[in-house]
Amino acid sequence: MRTVAQLDSMLADAIEIVFAVCGPHHNRISPEVKIRKYKTAYGKCVKRYNGGVVTCQISLADNFVQDGTDEQLMDVLLHEVLHTYPGESTGHNEAFLQRANQLNALGYSIKVRQRFPEVRSAPPNWWIVCHNCGARLPRYRKPTIDLRFYRCGKCQRSALAVEPAKPRTLK
Ligand SMILES: [Zn+2]
Ligand SMILES: [Zn+2]
Repeated sequence: MRTVAQLDSMLADAIEIVFAVCGPHHNRISPEVKIRKYKTAYGKCVKRYNGGVVTCQISLADNFVQDGTDEQLMDVLLHEVLHTYPGESTGHNEAFLQRANQLNALGYSIKVRQRFPEVRSAPPNWWIVCHNCGARLPRYRKPTIDLRFYRCGKCQRSALAVEPAKPRTLK
């Protein structure tokens, strides 16, 4: 299991690499990586504006921190550091892609969309369960549909029910 200190040191490396290859900028980057329970992102960069000072907070998904390789983590950290440039929003504009290409020319693999199949997705909070055939569908939000009007996609019987998932273990 990675420690927070290891992640922070990887972020420091990522910032150094990006500044060396693409040039430095004056926005502030928080030196601490935050770990969040993202379901659909491996990492994020959030900018806070305070009296003309921009502070960028980079965060990584907890399941990615757990299952990702060092190489994958570095590629995602580099991607997020590219979002810290002035004028960069959450989009991936021409300047973003140019900087990513500069880094990729050195052997990194920064993409606009990433998928790492070996990283397990975050555990669901709810399951839709078929009491006839045992089929299970993971859900992150509690289903609000009336399941009496739905049939199981597998066995076609109307035997679906919502069950809460077991509580997550703390990491
Ligand atoms: Zn991005
Ligand atoms: Zn079924």
